Amino acid sequence: MIYSYTQISQYLGCPRRYRHRYLDGWQEKDTRAAMLFGRAFEQALAALFRREDPAAVLFERGVCKDMGMTYSGNDTWDRMLQQGIQLLERFAQDGRVRIRRPRSTQQVQFNRTLGSGNNFVSYIDAIGELDGTPCVLEWKTSSARYPEEPLGISALDPQLVCYSWMTGIDEVAQIVFVRKRLVEIQYLRATITEEQRQEFATLVDDTVRRIESGLFLPHSGIRFPQNPCTTCPFIGLCLDKPDLVEAGLVRKPGVDLGLFNELVY
Ligand code: SF4
Repeated sequence: MIYSYTQISQYLGCPRRYRHRYLDGWQEKDTRAAMLFGRAFEQALAALFRREDPAAVLFERGVCKDMGMTYSGNDTWDRMLQQGIQLLERFAQDGRVRIRRPRSTQQVQFNRTLGSGNNFVSYIDAIGELDGTPCVLEWKTSSARYPEEPLGISALDPQLVCYSWMTGIDEVAQIVFVRKRLVEIQYLRATITEEQRQEFATLVDDTVRRIESGLFLPHSGIRFPQNPCTTCPFIGLCLDKPDLVEAGLVRKPGVDLGLFNELVY
C-alpha cells in the first residue's frame, strides 16, 4: 500500500472521512475555483523557473473558467487571474528564491519504505534557495495571510515536518501567495529538528497501523465555533442526505490513493 501526507492528515482529521475518501472512493467534485487556480498558478511558477512565459501558462491552464466553478466571496476567475499575474510579477521582482536546476528539482518525488513494509510518497514542490540558504520550498496560494506569530510557528506545520523527514533537509520554507486586494507574498522559513522528524515517523507508523486495523470511527474533534463537519465535503454521507451527496461528491471506481492531491496541496 502507498501512503502520503494527504492520507495521513485526512485520517488524523477524521477517520470516517478517510474511509469515505480512500476506501469507499468518494471524491469532492473539482469545482472549487480557488483550488483550480492554485494548480494553474503552481504550473505558472514552474514555467517561470524554466524561463518560459508564466502568464501564458496561467491563462492556458485557466481555460476551465466557465465550467460551473464555485467561488468564495467576491471572487471571479478574471479577478483571480489578475491577482495571479500581479503575484508572479512581485515574486520575480523580489528575487529571493532561486532554483538552480528547475527541470530536475521541481515536483520531485521522494519515497520511503515504512516499518510495516508499506511505502510513503511525497512530491516536493521544489528544492532551491531562499535568500541564499538551501532549503525545501513549498508553494501555497491563499486568500488570507498565514500566521507568523509567535515567532517560529511555521516549524510546527506538519506538512513542512513531513517534507523535512522525506528529504532529510533541515531548512524548509513556505512561500505563500496571498490573493487579496493588495497582493502579498509571505516567505516563511523554518528549521526542522531531528526530534520532530522522528516524532513524525512515529505518527505515520501509528496512523498506518490504525488504518490497517480498520478503525474508522467518526472523530471530527471540535465543537463550536470551528466544527469541521460544517465544511466537510462528506457531510452528506454522514447525515445520510442524498441531495448533499449528489451536489458535492462523485464516486470514482477503483482505489484512488489521492496522489494527485500531493502534487497540488
Ligand atoms: S462530516 Fe464530520 S464526522 Fe463525517 S466525515 Fe466529515 S468530519 Fe468526519
